[in-house]
Amino acid sequence: MPGADGRFAPSPTGSLHLGNLRTALLGWRFARSAGARFLVRMEDLDRARVRAGSEAEQLADLAALGLDWDGPVVRQSERAELYAEALARLEADGLIYPCFCTRAEIREAASAPHGGARPEGAYPGTCAHLSARERAARERAGRPPALRFRAGEVAVTVEDRIAGARTFRVDDPVVRRNDGAFAYHLAVVVDDAEQGVGEVVRGEDLLPSAARQVLLARALGLPSPRYAHVPLMRGPDGARLAKRHGAVTLAERRALGQTPAQVRAALLASARGLIERFGLESVPDPFAFRTDPGRSRRSP
Ligand code: GLU
Repeated sequence: MPGADGRFAPSPTGSLHLGNLRTALLGWRFARSAGARFLVRMEDLDRARVRAGSEAEQLADLAALGLDWDGPVVRQSERAELYAEALARLEADGLIYPCFCTRAEIREAASAPHGGARPEGAYPGTCAHLSARERAARERAGRPPALRFRAGEVAVTVEDRIAGARTFRVDDPVVRRNDGAFAYHLAVVVDDAEQGVGEVVRGEDLLPSAARQVLLARALGLPSPRYAHVPLMRGPDGARLAKRHGAVTLAERRALGQTPAQVRAALLASARGLIERFGLESVPDPFAFRTDPGRSRRSP
């Protein structure tokens, strides 16, 4: 059974916004209150979206808010061997098939009327049951396939600490993209298990993904972590926090004259209900030690 070790796994594709930072803070407090490790992992597999300098900026933001982490920062771009090994196991079990669909084809097929209810944006299964002839014809057409995990449209229930038990129909997730890059769902399952992560605290937009990940972990014989999907931070208009809402990054808040300690306090205040639910009040706030820079952290 996995323990209480937690992690924050941002994609270094730009600045973290306050919602990401609040999630990181909650995950960190949750891990530390259990005396557990807290890990940081850079999810940098999508090379086209990675931005130079983004990792350093994200880590500096976490540190400025008083978060610390155990061991070196792990980068998914350096772990291809682990993902290849997992993919080979799924292939050996007959759970992988090539998918030749373009995005536009998936959109079209997904919007066509069909029998069973499918989650929005779900893969409609076009390539799941190609005959050998159909497959060969698509191979001849020359478009390199992505690889999908055959989930078989089963329903999976995720036990979430915040959302409770939620059931999702799982479509067949891409595990390797058609440009050869390993895909998020495979990497996250392999990494959380390999790194010994037992508690995943992340944004609630990933709750349906947890179902795919539970299923993939099961197929790989890996443990699944427990999940706490945290409500997203919203702007005054109720929409998910975004640039147009004004100062939404730590740097932007600092430019307005706020200190990291003030931003942190505001983030924690906005999550008070969740903190109570998690029972995190006992964790000392590191800024309490830092109000007088002349004093050593250890002195009373
Ligand atoms: N890298 C993902 C993101 O930044 C988070 C994945 C996860 O926490 O499982 O949205």
